[in-house]
Amino acid sequence: MSTAILWLRQDLRLGDNPALIASCEAASELLIVFIDDPARTNIVAPGAASRVWLHHSLLSLQQCLARVGQTLVCLQGDSEEILLKLVNSSGAKRVCWNRCYDPISRACDTQLKSALSELTEVKSFNGSLFVEPWEACKDDGSPYRVFTPFYRRVATRFPASTPLPAPKTLPPSLASSELAAITDLPAVVSIEELGLLPEKQWHLPMMESWSAGEPAAINQLDLFLAESVDDYADARNLPATSGTSKLSPHLHFGEIGPRQILHKLLHGSDGQPQPKSGIEVYCKEIIWREFAYQLLFHFPEMVDAPLDKRFERFPWPPADEEMLHRWQRGQSGVPIIDAGMRELWCTGWMHNRVRMIVASYLIKNLLIQWQQGENWFRDTLVDADLASNAMGWQWCAGCGADAAPYFRIFNPVLQGEKFDKQGDYVRRWVPELAAVDNKFLHKPWELPEKERAAVDYPEPLVDLKSSRQRALAAFDTIKTPTA
Ligand code: FAD
Repeated sequence: MSTAILWLRQDLRLGDNPALIASCEAASELLIVFIDDPARTNIVAPGAASRVWLHHSLLSLQQCLARVGQTLVCLQGDSEEILLKLVNSSGAKRVCWNRCYDPISRACDTQLKSALSELTEVKSFNGSLFVEPWEACKDDGSPYRVFTPFYRRVATRFPASTPLPAPKTLPPSLASSELAAITDLPAVVSIEELGLLPEKQWHLPMMESWSAGEPAAINQLDLFLAESVDDYADARNLPATSGTSKLSPHLHFGEIGPRQILHKLLHGSDGQPQPKSGIEVYCKEIIWREFAYQLLFHFPEMVDAPLDKRFERFPWPPADEEMLHRWQRGQSGVPIIDAGMRELWCTGWMHNRVRMIVASYLIKNLLIQWQQGENWFRDTLVDADLASNAMGWQWCAGCGADAAPYFRIFNPVLQGEKFDKQGDYVRRWVPELAAVDNKFLHKPWELPEKERAAVDYPEPLVDLKSSRQRALAAFDTIKTPTA
C-alpha cells in the first residue's frame, strides 16, 4: 500500500487542484484532511461570517468527495503536530498542499516542510493564484507597487492555460480504524463539531443569499458569463443591480480558482474566443486580487501598518466608540453609507463601489483609523480576505500601493446621486427613507422641516464639509516624506 496525504485549506475544490492531482499520483490510498488550527489563524483569524461560509463550503466539499468515493477527515489542533503524527503512523509516501501567502502560514509552512521532509516527500503547489507573487516582478526583481504595469506584465501570460480537470475517481480513503489507532491524534470530528457556526442563529438569513461550494461557484461563474459580463464595464458601479459576479467568497475559499475563471473568460465554455466587451474589464478585476496577494507577499506588514510610512505620523484623534458603532450598524445618518453597512450586516457582502464610499467616510469624515474598518470587514464579510481587505482599506486611506490620493475624499451624497440615481439601493436597505423624494434621498437633512420630522432617520454624525476640511488639515501635517 502506498498512502498519500492531501492537506486542504483555502482550496476547497476538486477541479484545477494541483495538490489533489499530485497526491493521487501513485497512491493506492489517500487521506484528505482539513485541520482547524487556532494557532495558525491567530492573526488572520477568520471572522464570524467567514466561519459560517467555511462550514457550508466544507459540507459541500464532503458531498463532492463522497461522489468520487472519498471522505474529508476533519481534525482540530496544531497542524504540524497532526501532520507529523499522520505521516509517522500511516507511513505516507507523500504529503501535498496548495500554498497560502499570508505571513503566518508562510512561516509555519516553511517549518512544517522541513520537519516533514525528513520523513516523506513534501510537495506544495500554486492552487489559488494565476501567477505566483514572485513571478510577476519588475525586470530588476523588485515588486510592483502600481497596478497598471503589474497588470500588463501578468497579461503577457494570457490566455490562461487549460485548468486541470476534476478527477472522476480518487484512490480510496485510509480506513477509519487505521486513523483511530493512531495514538495521541485528536479525535476525528464532524464538520458540525468544528463549531464554525455561531450559537445565535443570525447566519440563517445571511446564507439565504448564498450557496457555498464548488458546484455553486461554477454555476455562479456560468450565470455571470451568460447574463452579466457584457454590461460589466458600466453595471459594476451600480450597487442596485446584480452587475458583478459575486465570486469573491468562492475565490477566497478556493471553491474556484482564478485560472478556471480566466480560462472560461478568455476561451468560453466551448473553447471559442469570447467577444464580449466586459471581459477585459473583468480580467483586470481578477488581476487586482493577484496584485493584493503580490503586495501581501512582499510587504506582509501591510496587514496592519501603512505602506506609505508618512501615515505612521498621522494625527488620529482618540477613538470615538459611539461613532464607530453607528457606522458599523448603519446609523450614520448618511443614506448611502447606512445602506452599505446594512447590506453587509444582512448578507455578509457589500458592493465594491459602496465599500470604497463607506471606507472613505470612516477614515476621512469620521477620522477613524482604517484598521478599525478593516477589522469590522474581516469579521462581517463572507469574502473577508487578508490581502484584498488590507489593500482595499489602505487604498481608500491613501496610504497603500497605487492608492487614491488622501485629498481625494469621496462625497457620499454625490456618490449616491451618481451611482444610485433612482435611489433603489438606498430604499432597499434603508426602508425608513423609502417615501423620500429622489431630490432629498441622499441628503435627507435638507428636507423641509415638516417632512424631515416625519422621517424616523438619524441626523448625520458629522457635517460633510467641515469634516472634510478637518481631514485635509490633518493630512497637511504629514505631507512631507519621512526622513
Ligand atoms: P467582481 O466585480 O465580480 O470582481 C471579480 C473578482 O475580482 C472578485 O470576486 C475579486 O476576487 C476580484 N476583485 C474585484 N475587485 C477587486 C479589488 N478592488 N481588490 C481585490 N480583488 C478584487 N475583496 C475580497 O475578496 N475580500 C475582501 O476582504 C475585500 N475587502 C475590501 C475592502 C475595501 C475597503 C475595498 C474597497 C474593497 C475590498 N475588496 C475585497 C475588493 C472588492 O470590493 C471585492 O472583491 C468585490 O466587491 C467582490 O464582489 P464580486 O465578486 O462581485 O466582484
